[in-house]
Amino acid sequence: MTAPGSLDRSLRERAAQVIPGGMYGHQSTALLPDGYPQFFSGGQGAHLTDADGRRYLDFMCAYGPNLLGYAHPGVDAAYIDQLRKGDALTGPTPAMVALAEAFTGMVTHADWALFCKNGTDATSMAMVTARAHTRRKTLVLAKGAYHGAAPWCTPRPAGTTPEDRANQVFCTYNDIDSLEAAVARAGDDLAAIFAAPFRHDAFVDQVEVDPAYAHKARELADRTGALLVVDDVRAGFRVARDCSWSAVGVQPDLSSWGKCIANGHPISALLGNDKARAAAASIYVTGSFWFAGAAMAAGVATLKLIRESDYLERIEGLGARLRHGLAERASGAGFGFRQSGPVTMPLFLFDDDRDLAKGFAWCSAMLGRGVYVHPWHNMFLCAAMTEADIDVALDAAEASFDDLKRNRAEIRPAAKMAFLTAG
Ligand code: PMP
Repeated sequence: MTAPGSLDRSLRERAAQVIPGGMYGHQSTALLPDGYPQFFSGGQGAHLTDADGRRYLDFMCAYGPNLLGYAHPGVDAAYIDQLRKGDALTGPTPAMVALAEAFTGMVTHADWALFCKNGTDATSMAMVTARAHTRRKTLVLAKGAYHGAAPWCTPRPAGTTPEDRANQVFCTYNDIDSLEAAVARAGDDLAAIFAAPFRHDAFVDQVEVDPAYAHKARELADRTGALLVVDDVRAGFRVARDCSWSAVGVQPDLSSWGKCIANGHPISALLGNDKARAAAASIYVTGSFWFAGAAMAAGVATLKLIRESDYLERIEGLGARLRHGLAERASGAGFGFRQSGPVTMPLFLFDDDRDLAKGFAWCSAMLGRGVYVHPWHNMFLCAAMTEADIDVALDAAEASFDDLKRNRAEIRPAAKMAFLTAG
């Protein structure tokens, strides 16, 4: 197994003194196999460099933001140009209007856009807009779906109150009966139905949306006067150049976006239709950095490339090559190895691996071969990857399966599973 480099180790020791828990959120040290670096010094194209100078082919893409390649010259030039002219100013730059026009021109259901910084800002704004629109309180959400880290939606309840989560009713994703039952429980107080574009919860196989479920959600929202929200923060632009549910012919009232919309620069968005416009204009939402121009300029440049380049077809082709190649190598080595979700956002889980021991060992072996993969979260492809990169990953996978088979990799239960799965 690879050990973290010496600079990484010393940064962790220093972090333990000055950062609570040494790290937080999805980068908490407990969440990845031993040996995974915690600190990085740079990224270029499809590759990531850790603080000790080791280079990896990166299948996490910053947990989504890297869509076109790290340090993309065109996007970064737009960012730097606006940065030099001015970023956080007393008001927005013209890029704000250009970005809203670009989004509404691309996303079928969208007639307007509000910009913020993180995905959680966008999903929280969707909630408030729906409540302002309906003057009702209750949200229907799918159990296990991630919508952010605010008190109303964080998966770890420390420091929150039951009241933060009042007025929420849960259903099972893709289960029409449970969706109908949740809507019935909300009664005449339903403000919004939230939906991920497909089931992309951590630790379990991803599942495509059942088109009948998406259509039912639309129908129930229409029947009750509630708003339908698609949370496209993670999947946005990796399955369509439109809201992800356009692929199944369902248009939401609101959609939340973030991560890759400016190829890594900090900006997120709530998009909405005319029905929700007055409510969106009535809510008070803002932030010191929400009008900053550089990320908006980067967003305009990114959306242009999304519209005009073949990035989506490229990452679909690369994803299919990876999926087929891995399936062949896993079965050749005799492993039940499940690959789920869109090929552009794959998740890998081993059969008979409840404690993720095989998954952690295989990922560590991949890391040792310079390929950064994740044992329980979906990954992301970026358009800077090449077929040769995928082939490097496949060779690494073959050798790592072999390590597992011959017990050369250390297979032990992922020690911190209790932390990982704690509610
Ligand atoms: N919704 C979804 C579907 C997400 O995947 C995420 C982030 N992983 C969020 C919301 C929250 O986004 P952020 O971390 O930028 O606040």
